[in-house]
Amino acid sequence: MVAAVAAGAFAAAAAGQTIQATSGESNDRHTDVTPLANAGDANAAMTTGGAAGVGGNARAGAPVLLQVAADPTDASAEAQKLTESAELTEERLEREAEERRKAAEEAARPKFVLPAQGVFSSGYGARWGGTHYGVDIANAIGTPIVSAADGTVIEAGPASGFGLWVRVQLDDGTIHVYGHMDSFSVQVGQRVKAGEQIAVIGNKGQSTGPHLHFEVHQGGQKVDPQAWLAARGVYL
Ligand SMILES: [Zn+2]
Repeated sequence: MVAAVAAGAFAAAAAGQTIQATSGESNDRHTDVTPLANAGDANAAMTTGGAAGVGGNARAGAPVLLQVAADPTDASAEAQKLTESAELTEERLEREAEERRKAAEEAARPKFVLPAQGVFSSGYGARWGGTHYGVDIANAIGTPIVSAADGTVIEAGPASGFGLWVRVQLDDGTIHVYGHMDSFSVQVGQRVKAGEQIAVIGNKGQSTGPHLHFEVHQGGQKVDPQAWLAARGVYL
């Protein structure tokens, strides 16, 4: 009611009438809700020179209503939004497909592999009056040595008897030891995956020819690497 009175008053004022007179008319609501008709009157009043100050407001107010209703950019803006929405959906689907492909790849990749290609030249156990605590795989100097499993490098550098060694700790605590390499390409703290190159075969330390010496330590025990690998589907 208040708004209706105000609107009526505004239109009436614009038309050059007095506010007091309009308030009296506002009991009849139907005459109050025809501002466009009154605005037209206001324009007419302007052209005839009446109530110039107030009529200016009426001219500013009336065209706004017409502009909103007739905005020609609405349809194309809506179409643009739909196009952008479709592109976002496509991007999301592509991203999800990529994530699924990576997850499948990760699930399918071997988690245990042979640490080097070559000749299985010496096994775990008694040897030369002592105990050989690893397996030897002989091959030319420079042959790649890869991590036999996923893990974290805990040592990489010189070691007595081994010449150089790399030690990789698996997530279950098992430790792999690689010895006699010519050089290594990992550093302490680095995560490595099964099959990732960590070094190359060499003939350093107490070694009688180019080979990889590979040990597996489980719970503080040096276990037979051949059996450990075989239990995980990898055969020397
Ligand atoms: Zn050995």
